[in-house]
Amino acid sequence: MAGAKPLGEFDLIDRYFRVPALASTAVRADVTLGIGDDAAVVTLPPGQQLVAALDTLVEGRHFLAGTSAQSLGHRALAVNLSDLAAMGATPLWYLLALTLPRVDEAFLLGFSQGLHQLAGLHDIVLIGGDTTAGPLSVSVQVLGKVSPGQALLRSGARIGDLLYVTGTPGDAAAGLQLERGLAADLACSAAQQLELRQRFLFPAPRIALGRALVGIASACIDVSDGLAGDALKLATASGCGVQLHIDKLPLSASLLAFKGPLVARELALAGGDDYELCFAIPPARQAALEDSLINVKCAASCIGSLVGDPGLQLLERGKPVQLQHSGFDHFATAG
Ligand code: ADP
Ligand code: MG
Repeated sequence: MAGAKPLGEFDLIDRYFRVPALASTAVRADVTLGIGDDAAVVTLPPGQQLVAALDTLVEGRHFLAGTSAQSLGHRALAVNLSDLAAMGATPLWYLLALTLPRVDEAFLLGFSQGLHQLAGLHDIVLIGGDTTAGPLSVSVQVLGKVSPGQALLRSGARIGDLLYVTGTPGDAAAGLQLERGLAADLACSAAQQLELRQRFLFPAPRIALGRALVGIASACIDVSDGLAGDALKLATASGCGVQLHIDKLPLSASLLAFKGPLVARELALAGGDDYELCFAIPPARQAALEDSLINVKCAASCIGSLVGDPGLQLLERGKPVQLQHSGFDHFATAG
């Protein structure tokens, strides 16, 4: 790497990333060689397939200048874990490429805490990365495993399959508006506002459910760009269209209180940053799904189905609706 740094690259890595900064970060036996050499060496369990995902967060584009460092550390890892969840994979290890404008130890402490706390929850280990000077940007790569042929794809859904979403989509988009200071004169309480902000700042990737969906779901995607658009991506990849029942969207009480039911619906359909799972199951797998949801203590709601007509159709009480809001224009032409 290049670039002058007061703390020094190696001290920085040692202090914040190499030695587990928090006791919750376990050391895994499958890491033969972690941070410190030219590359890491890990051992995948025999017969397992490797699943890899990488996402970059750039200041000004993916997060606001002045964002909580802890949230940034959490989100940089969470968005990648969410991708592995959507594949039905078990995460094992991760790498971090950090570009820093300056060595700011308060930032590094918060950032590494956010990162290590989430890593500890999922028992995954940081095995390497890169540190450079430049405009603030964070890339995380997560590596995981899945049994051969078992990965959940976007493309496996069939006409007649039921479409589900976990959690309460839209909350994170409302939380982002609050973070940006774009929401004034709200009817929702301070506690509800805090809850919405937390949903944006600290999304919880649905790893356990993703794993449980292997053998049940026919297709799966994680919701990062808005539920309607991501559901359409799943349907299109599966050679189908999708019908969404907008009266069946699981809207949280906080989101409903935020700016009322119409905005709640719009944010749930088009908001983004949810990191929930949207998945299809054959109708015959409903009972198996209910068992899995109880086992992993995750809520999911049936919001629609896969159909033969390509594209996205929104229904309210069974009848097609056009949502007038401009935010929906791109769905009308998509697919
Ligand atoms: P090289 O020049 O051989 O690529 P570096 O000097 O970039 O090595 O990194 C030294 C070691 O520290 C490597 O093991 C690398 O994976 C690790 N490393 C560098 N930056 C980070 C980081 N931000 N997080 C975790 N590990 C890192
Ligand atoms: Mg090297």
